[in-house]
Amino acid sequence: MDHFLYREGVLHAEDVPVAEIAAQVGTPFYCYSAATLTRHFRLFDEALDGLDHLVCFAMKSNSNLAVLKLLAAEGAGMDVVSGGEYARARAAGVPGDRIVFSGVGKTRDEMRAALEGGIRQFNVESEPEMRALSEVAAGMGQRAPIAIRVNPDVDARTHAKIATGKSENKFGIPIARAREVYAEAAALPGIEVVGIDVHIGSQLVELEPFELAYTKVAELTRALRDDGHDIRRLDLGGGLGIPYTRSNEAPPLPRDYGDLIKRTVGDLGCEVEIEPGRLISGNAGIMVSKVIYVKSGEGRDFLILDGAMNDLVRPSMYDAHHDIVPVIEPAAGAEQQPYDIVGPVCETGDTFARQRPMPVLQPDDLVAFRSAGAYGAVMASEYNSRPLIPEVLVQGDKWAVIRSRPSFEEMIGRDQVPDWLEADA
Ligand SMILES: *Cc1c(COP(=O)(O)O)cnc(C)c1O
Repeated sequence: MDHFLYREGVLHAEDVPVAEIAAQVGTPFYCYSAATLTRHFRLFDEALDGLDHLVCFAMKSNSNLAVLKLLAAEGAGMDVVSGGEYARARAAGVPGDRIVFSGVGKTRDEMRAALEGGIRQFNVESEPEMRALSEVAAGMGQRAPIAIRVNPDVDARTHAKIATGKSENKFGIPIARAREVYAEAAALPGIEVVGIDVHIGSQLVELEPFELAYTKVAELTRALRDDGHDIRRLDLGGGLGIPYTRSNEAPPLPRDYGDLIKRTVGDLGCEVEIEPGRLISGNAGIMVSKVIYVKSGEGRDFLILDGAMNDLVRPSMYDAHHDIVPVIEPAAGAEQQPYDIVGPVCETGDTFARQRPMPVLQPDDLVAFRSAGAYGAVMASEYNSRPLIPEVLVQGDKWAVIRSRPSFEEMIGRDQVPDWLEADA
C-alpha cells in the first residue's frame, strides 16, 4: 500500500497533485511520500513487538537527509555501508549507538571515524578486516563491538546481482568456519564480540530462505555460547521484497516475517536487529518524467522520455520491472497500445520497458515510475552530463524539495583544469 493514488483523474502524492510539483521543479524528479515511509517503518517495528529489537534502515536504498531524519524521528537505527553513509546518518542526528556498520571493504579510516563518532556494532565480513579493526580500536584504547557476518549458504532465489547468501558470494565467512573465527575474535585485544550477523540477499519474495538461514543462526548461537562467547545480539539483515507490479503475487508481509523471527530465534534471549531497506523506501517513491517525443519505428513505437538510465538504473542493471503510469488517469476502457519506453542516453540499455501496453500518450504528457524510492536516486549518475535530478518529499498537503537540481554551471564547476592547460589559450 502506498500514497500515490489518482484523485479526480490526476495522480497525487498524498494530498498534492504530482503535476503541480512538476510545474515548479521541472522533470524528471523523484517524489517521496512521508506517510508511506513512516507506515512501512512502523510495520516492521510492530512485527517485532515483544522482542528487544532495533529496526535499522538500510540507508543505501535511500540516503537523503530528510528521509533519514523522518525515519530517525520514528526511532529507526541505520545500517550504513560506507564512511559517507556514516557521516550522513550522524548529520541526520542519528546517535552512534543506533548505527550498525556493514560492508565487505571497510577501510581503517572508516573504522576510526565510526569509533570516534560512536557505533553500535561493526558487522565484520572477513578475518583480515577483523584484525585491522582490532588494531585500529586497540590503537585508540577501545574495543570495537562486532558481530561476524556468517554466510549460511542458502539460496535466496532472487536476481543473481542481489543474492548474497550463497557460498560463492563475496559476503561474510562460511558458517562452517564460524566457531574458529569467533575463537580468534575473542583473543584479539581490540575486539568485543556481541553477536552474529546474516544477510542473504535482496528482493526476497518467499520466507523459506529466511527460515533456513535463521535456523542456522540459532544453532550457531547455541554452539558459540557453548564455546563461551556472550552472544547477545542477532542482526538478521534486510531483504524482504516488495511488489513491483500491481498484478504480482504479494510478497510476504512484515508481520509474517516477524512471526518467523520469533519462531526461529525468539527463545534465545537475544536483542534482534533487522536491516530493511527496499521494503521501507521502495514503494514510498516515484520518479516523474515527461514524454519528449513519440517516435514510430519498424513495427514499434517508442516513447522517448526526459528520464534515463542514469536517473533510474534498475531496469538496465537488474532487468527490473517498474510500473509506469500516466499522471492523468486514462478513462475507463481507454485504448491501449504497446510502446518501447526509453530515455535519451546513447545506449541501447537505456530502455525502461519493451512493448509495454500504455494509454496513447503525446509529447509533454507526464508519467510516473512506481516503486522508485529504493535504489533509485542513490544509484543515479551524471552520465551524458545529465545533472542529478531533484528529490521532493510530500507530507500531507505540504511538499518541499529535499535535494535540488544542480545547474550546468554547478555540475561543470566541480571539474578542475590544470594550469598548464589554461596557460596558452
Ligand atoms: C542491501 C543490504 C540491506 C538491505 O536490503 P533490502 O533488500 O533493501 O532490504 C541490508 N543489509 C545489508 C548488509 C545490505 O547489504
